[in-house]
Amino acid sequence: MADTNLMQIPGHIDPLPVPRPNLVDGVTPREDGRVDLIGLPRTQIAAMLTEAGLDAKAAKLRAKQVFHWLYHRGVTEFEAMTDIAKAMRPWLAERFVIGRPEIVEAQVSTDGTRKWLLRTADAHDFEMVFIPDETRGTLCVSSQVGCTLNCTFCHTGTMRLVRNLTPGEIVGQVMLARDALGEWPNASTPSSPRTRGPLAASLEVGVKPPAVPDQVRDDEDEDEDDDEAGQYTSNGRLLTNIVMMGMGEPLYNFDNVRDALRLVMDGDGLGLSRRRITLSTSGVVPMMARCGTEIGVNLAVSLHAVTKQVRDEIVPINRKYGIEELLAACAAYPRSSNARRITFEYVMLKDKNDSDEDARELVRLIKLYKLPAKVNLIPFNPWPGTSYECSEPARIRRFSEIVFEAGISAPVRTPRGRDIDAACGQLKTSAEKKSRAELDRLYAEKQAALG
Ligand code: SAH
Ligand code: SF4
Repeated sequence: MADTNLMQIPGHIDPLPVPRPNLVDGVTPREDGRVDLIGLPRTQIAAMLTEAGLDAKAAKLRAKQVFHWLYHRGVTEFEAMTDIAKAMRPWLAERFVIGRPEIVEAQVSTDGTRKWLLRTADAHDFEMVFIPDETRGTLCVSSQVGCTLNCTFCHTGTMRLVRNLTPGEIVGQVMLARDALGEWPNASTPSSPRTRGPLAASLEVGVKPPAVPDQVRDDEDEDEDDDEAGQYTSNGRLLTNIVMMGMGEPLYNFDNVRDALRLVMDGDGLGLSRRRITLSTSGVVPMMARCGTEIGVNLAVSLHAVTKQVRDEIVPINRKYGIEELLAACAAYPRSSNARRITFEYVMLKDKNDSDEDARELVRLIKLYKLPAKVNLIPFNPWPGTSYECSEPARIRRFSEIVFEAGISAPVRTPRGRDIDAACGQLKTSAEKKSRAELDRLYAEKQAALG
């Protein structure tokens, strides 16, 4: 099996390999030498406890208990693990930590969207966005710091530097959101200080969800399909859905994204149904089948153009995996059906991809490949320095009508969180300010300091 964490696209499309120097067994090393348990599967927690001196049977039992406290109850201290012997709790705390990404900044938009600037233990910044609306709350999770791809309309794509996030840093975003929203399952009361965690007080949810759809909302509510591992339902909760649509290309960090999402979907873990999780890819064709079989979440594909010429320009991975290949992979996606359609994301760029002809070609392609599909029309979100403009509202409406008239759902997404640069494609941290060489040097220094 290919090591997808090292995968790179050769040639000018993707001149930078994905650096992964800090990933030792999928864990970011800490200066204090302790190991962060977040992101590790039960078996690895057990292996670490064995290595620390427990016999195999005790390690397995403790790992099960610890796992439950970490993911089901959301505790952030070993002292809170009341069914573990009192003497053992400091023993655990000496060796392990229960980490969360550090919050550098938290912002709230006038429309209730919240954005967090987060930092890894080795000081890389990335972003996470929460989008509440009337019927659901969607967390937009990052998979990488920056992105190696460079879609011309995407702010993240202008970041030159990238590192894959670890499983812990990915699942840690969901845990942080639950901390902030104060809604761990089995909590005695969602707002009690004990269960809300230390961050909740400073991240009060005070903004009423607006009555407008957000850019990632599905047409159907899948509540009735929630028959899988997830014990965690939308009842009264704010965080109901997850989209892998933050910074980065999740299928270029496949192993870590898969391992993180398995923890999110685990009934003894975060317990969110796979039907409430959507992974968006720009079209990493060779990884799409594995995404279906090994993760099994809903698929969204950033199509954005229907001709080779335009897609080559705006989504350059198209030069490597063309539209036909991409649509064939969509047709073969293991989990798609009429009940679980593939979402095609289509950003509306003025005079670039928004003509009637484009809309008709989109319909033709979807029908040609017999795809169970819906289309999300995303008004282009501007960012400083971009040369693109958003299509006129009347143009977007006409485009949408043409697709709708052909029997394919094509809602126009209302941009959310634009005022705090939290909308699709606006995420970008200051990582580009350091050169690649400089980051490598900083990393080498840090490793030397760690011995
Ligand atoms: N890398 C993945 C997921 C992250 S991007 C992907 O490309 O699919 C999430 C979505 O936002 C993608 O559909 C992306 O194309 C879209 N997007 C990027 N920049 C945008 C912008 N400026 N305005 C609107 N949508 C944008
Ligand atoms: Fe990367 Fe997605 Fe942005 Fe393209 S749209 S640069 S793949 S994050």
